Amino acid sequence: MKLASFSNKGVISWGIVEGGEVIDVGAKLRSSYANLREVIAANGFAAAAAAAAHAERLKLDSLKLLPVIPDPAKILCVGLNYETHLRETGRPVSEHPTLFTRYADSLLGHGDNIVRPHVSTMLDYEGELAVIIGKGGRYIRRENAMQHVAGYACHNDATIRDWQRHTSQFTPGKTFPGTGPLGPYLVTKDEVTDLDSVTLETRLNGVVVQSATIGQMIFPIPQLIEYISTFTPLAPGDVIATGTPGGVGFKREPPLFMKAGDRIEVEISGVGLLINGVANEA
Ligand code: MG
Repeated sequence: MKLASFSNKGVISWGIVEGGEVIDVGAKLRSSYANLREVIAANGFAAAAAAAAHAERLKLDSLKLLPVIPDPAKILCVGLNYETHLRETGRPVSEHPTLFTRYADSLLGHGDNIVRPHVSTMLDYEGELAVIIGKGGRYIRRENAMQHVAGYACHNDATIRDWQRHTSQFTPGKTFPGTGPLGPYLVTKDEVTDLDSVTLETRLNGVVVQSATIGQMIFPIPQLIEYISTFTPLAPGDVIATGTPGGVGFKREPPLFMKAGDRIEVEISGVGLLINGVANEA
């Protein structure tokens, strides 16, 4: 099942994506679930599927898509999780995953413009697989970790590189408003059968700039969930951005940064195609 959060002429809702349509299940089940996060928390996918038969079908291209989870309580981001990216940054191999956080107000939907702030020209792309947590928990063991996953989405961990590198702590460069596209929709875990062979590709203005398979992650998803849930409880709708492969713009010769008018795409096989423009901060 594919699930999207959207705004229909200003009314916020969520629904099931089928072809070029979204079934507005959120309008039908408003008294049960306020948003997709609550559907996930209540394991309400079967109820959503049952309600779909009686819900209105909307044209996908008539809606404004929101970040898949518009208001996750936690967004945990993994740095340096692909050998190719670790090598290009020159950073050392680490025994533990590198983690930083984003705030929910940095997220964008599919089709929104990524915002280049006026304090920097070093706006870079990072195509990533995002994991959406289904069942929460603490001290989750890696062998049980996948039971806690609701599904996946595409993510662009767009980064203000100079602000990332002011000190050893990444967070300032990673959570500027309008820099975290998450979408276009959530694909439930059952639809992605062989995660290791899933491909990730980032294209800037149609040119492939990053290409990898999910199986190339240094710290696989179960290990990330085990590590993260040891220091913080995970809740339904929380997001783990699992890291980006090599090919980022700031390590190229000459460097390649995004600018107003660009089109950036993150495509993950079986998960979706996330497309965003770029605009200067107003
Ligand atoms: Mg990243």
